[in-house]
Amino acid sequence: MKIRHKIAAWYFGATICILFAFSYSAYWQLRSLLYEVIDNEIKEYIKVVENSYDPVTGRFMRTIISERINRVFDRYYIALATANGDTVMQTPLVRQLKFDFQPEDHRSGRHVTIELIPDNLPSHILLDDEELTLRAVSYDIVRGNKVVGVLSIARDIEEIDRELRNLIRTLSRISAAFLLVVAVVGIFATKKVLSPIKEIGRKAREITRNNSRERIKIFNEKDELGQLSLVLNDSIDRVQRAFESQREFMADAAHELKTPIAILRTHWETELNNPSLSLEFKEKLVKDIETLSRLTYLINNLLMLSQTESIHTNFEFSAVQLNEILADVISNAEVLAELKSQEIETNNLPEITLNGDKIRLYQLLFNIVDNAIKYTPEKGKISIHLSQENNRALIKIRDNGPGIPEKDLPHIFRRFYRVHKDRARKTGGSGLGLAIAKLIAESHKGKIFVESAVNKGTTFTIEIPVFLESSNSS
Ligand code: ADP
Repeated sequence: MKIRHKIAAWYFGATICILFAFSYSAYWQLRSLLYEVIDNEIKEYIKVVENSYDPVTGRFMRTIISERINRVFDRYYIALATANGDTVMQTPLVRQLKFDFQPEDHRSGRHVTIELIPDNLPSHILLDDEELTLRAVSYDIVRGNKVVGVLSIARDIEEIDRELRNLIRTLSRISAAFLLVVAVVGIFATKKVLSPIKEIGRKAREITRNNSRERIKIFNEKDELGQLSLVLNDSIDRVQRAFESQREFMADAAHELKTPIAILRTHWETELNNPSLSLEFKEKLVKDIETLSRLTYLINNLLMLSQTESIHTNFEFSAVQLNEILADVISNAEVLAELKSQEIETNNLPEITLNGDKIRLYQLLFNIVDNAIKYTPEKGKISIHLSQENNRALIKIRDNGPGIPEKDLPHIFRRFYRVHKDRARKTGGSGLGLAIAKLIAESHKGKIFVESAVNKGTTFTIEIPVFLESSNSS
């Protein structure tokens, strides 16, 4: 899961929790507020009924009750009875009820919920009927330790419940719309916030791939991304310095070895003309001179590699004719191929101009063709094909030699890697040819691929973009 999606998911989850908590508390607060209004009205009507009791006559004065609360008779169920159960008064709504209105009577068999007693209300009952939900109270009116009447008051709360249900629906709709907005904004916001990190990664990859001297731009040194860029720039500096010193060491060592070996070789070549030396000894000298030649070849390749790695100082780019370079390679290779009675076959080389270093491109192509000749047995066939596809020059060099085993294919471009160490040593290679070829191709923003089948042959494909602006700018 991408960080961007993780942040958006957290953001989304947190918003769901907040919305749920808000909706839940809004619902319960509004519900208790509305119920409180009803409870207060009920308390007021209890007082009215209590005060209507005349202790002298021992009766409730119905006129007082009617006068004071008749305006709510259409909304309230009010039933007053004497202690013996004789009805004193009933509001019209009570008369419409199909059951005996006694909220405290649990024997009715209906679903009855008793809530906690609020304030001075002795009992608080919620009567649930299929058609009716009442918030009700049953209250004993006491005078001088004697129950003088039983008052039952209730209010239909269906309307309030309907409003509360509407509130839930509205809150759900608003929450869903809000969540949608949050999700969209969240995805875009995290994308925007994290895009500099993506850009930093892309730039760091580009710098390391092209071994570029450029660095990641720092917009604000104080923020986290600025700090990350600073650390990365510092690491890239260190890595490049390490490579540079490795390259310098390789170049210096090769350079230092070159002169003593050249002196030794000249010395022994002179000794070959010394008549006082025996033939046997001279044969040994010739073998040593051959070894020294191989050593010189290796040192030259090491030097070449160190120079190729430092593309910025050692490459000279200009508009070059790739077909002419390849034609030169072929004509020189033909001399070598003839020695092994091999046949080199080419197509009619099309004219391709590209921005490149002539000497390095020659070296790249020669290394591959030279390998094809070296590893293909006598009378073998080598075919060289040049073409242009869109903006790429394609060079295919195919041979019908021994091929390269599949397990070795991923490694052959590594320095000093050789498939058959003994056989390769006999061919006189240094194990650096393909590493150099790869570096040169990449320095031209190109690629090199290999396909091979054991005992059938090998095909190397070199792909170089054809454009004429300076490659040095990378
Ligand atoms: P070398 O100097 O040994 O030729 P390279 O880097 O040029 O070094 O090649 C690396 C190895 O890849 C060689 O040792 C050889 O085993 C293998 N190789 C390269 N080209 C071919 C080819 N055309 N056919 C078979 N094997 C090859």
